[in-house]
Amino acid sequence: MVELAYDHLLTMLMTLQIAPGERIAIDAVARRLDISQTPIREALSQLEAEKLVYKTPNIGYRASPQMTRGEVRDLYTLRLLIEPYAAARAAEATTDEAIAILTEIGADMSGVAEGDARAYSRFAEADDRLHRLIATGSGNRLIAETVERLHAHLHIFRTLFHTNAPIEAAAEHQLIIDALVARDPHAAEAAVRTHLERSHERMDRALAAGEERAAPEG
Ligand SMILES: [Zn+2]
Repeated sequence: MVELAYDHLLTMLMTLQIAPGERIAIDAVARRLDISQTPIREALSQLEAEKLVYKTPNIGYRASPQMTRGEVRDLYTLRLLIEPYAAARAAEATTDEAIAILTEIGADMSGVAEGDARAYSRFAEADDRLHRLIATGSGNRLIAETVERLHAHLHIFRTLFHTNAPIEAAAEHQLIIDALVARDPHAAEAAVRTHLERSHERMDRALAAGEERAAPEG
C-alpha cells in the first residue's frame, strides 16, 4: 500500500500533475487510490526525505518549490567535481555483476516512450540507479553518500518534464554504460562530464523559459 501510494505521488510530482508549491490533499489521494490515509502519510514522509514535498504545521504537505537557476548551478558544480572522477574509478573495476545491472538499466532507458507518465518516472529511476552505481563503484563511501543525498534525479526530472530530455539523456547514458562495460576510465570520465554539462544546459534552458513565462507582459 505504501509503495502504491509512493509510486502514485511520485508520478504526479514528476509529471507536474501536482505543481511545485501545490498543496497535497491526503483525503483526496486516499479516495482516488481507495486506500486508507496511513500508507499515504508514510509515502509522504518518504518523499519529504527526498525533498520533493515539505510539511507545514496546520496546512499539511506541499510539493517543494522549483529549484532556482542558482541552486541548479550549485548542484551541477558539485556533481561535476565528483561524478566524472567516480566514473573513472568505477570503470577501472567494473564487476560482472555491475555489467549485468548496467545492461538492465540501458534496456529500461531505451524503453522510454514520450508522453507516458509511468515510463517517465521509470526513466528517472533508471537514471538514479546509473548515477548511484557509478558513485558506489568509485569505492569511496563519502562520494556514494553525497550523490545519494542530493536526490538530484528527482528534481531534474521534475523540471524537465515537457521537454525531450529523456531521449537526449538516454543517448548520453548509453555512452557512459559502454565506457563502464569496456572498463575504460578515460572514456567513462569524459562521458559523465559531457552528460552533466549537457544536462545542466537543459535544466538552465527549461528554468529560463519558465522564468520568461512567469514574467509580466511588456
Ligand atoms: Zn543521468
